[in-house]
Amino acid sequence: MRLTVLGSGCAISGANRYPSGYIVSHNGESIILDLGYGCFKQLQKAGFDFTKTNSLLFSHLHCDHVNDLSAFCFSRFVALQWLRKPAKFNVFGPKGIRKFFNALANIYPQLKDVDAAVREIPNKKIGIGKFTVQSIRVLHNENSIAFSISAAGRRIVYGGDCSYSSKLAKFAKHADLLILECSLAKETAGQMHLTSQQAGQIAAAAAAKQLMLTHFYPSTEKIDCRKKAARFFKGKILLAKDLMRVTV
Ligand SMILES: [Zn+2]
Repeated sequence: MRLTVLGSGCAISGANRYPSGYIVSHNGESIILDLGYGCFKQLQKAGFDFTKTNSLLFSHLHCDHVNDLSAFCFSRFVALQWLRKPAKFNVFGPKGIRKFFNALANIYPQLKDVDAAVREIPNKKIGIGKFTVQSIRVLHNENSIAFSISAAGRRIVYGGDCSYSSKLAKFAKHADLLILECSLAKETAGQMHLTSQQAGQIAAAAAAKQLMLTHFYPSTEKIDCRKKAARFFKGKILLAKDLMRVTV
């Protein structure tokens, strides 16, 4: 499997990082994991054909993770009109994704013409083409989920936005690549995010093979996130960058 980072930033990142977006590929099939604003163009920059990318998974409904769903759908609608390419695709996400999609379709009526199946998959295991996808609830906003994507005996776990939880560590057990946010420079009461240390603790408890730190804030750009995570996690630690590719 291959992971491509579309966006490694957050809502307030600088010019070098788009908000959250990733794509997992294997044998000609791909699944998008979140598509924050700007990430639709990043998808094209990374060489993916949006008319042939037919599965999208969303971790939660904050703008920095979901805003380019409307751009994706509108482009599929226009492609259908002008390029006559097939436009059937699947949108998976937390509880509320269907209501969200329907609300978008009320604003942009063209979305009613695209052939999209929208499915809520909290705490579910499903097959998507060659991939097996599993989700669990995580602590961030009311319906946030994390995903595990498996194919060809390899497993990538993406925590989305989350806070510390032993349940997430158990879910990520022996992941070949564990992607965790490191939004916080230090632990802050009431913030539903992770510090780099906590990401390292989860990766260590999960005995993951590699940890990718992501979702950088201006405050975390200034600290050595790798060093902080490495206090707990002794495996390989990657710092996500936009358009970075990792083979798992
Ligand atoms: Zn976020």
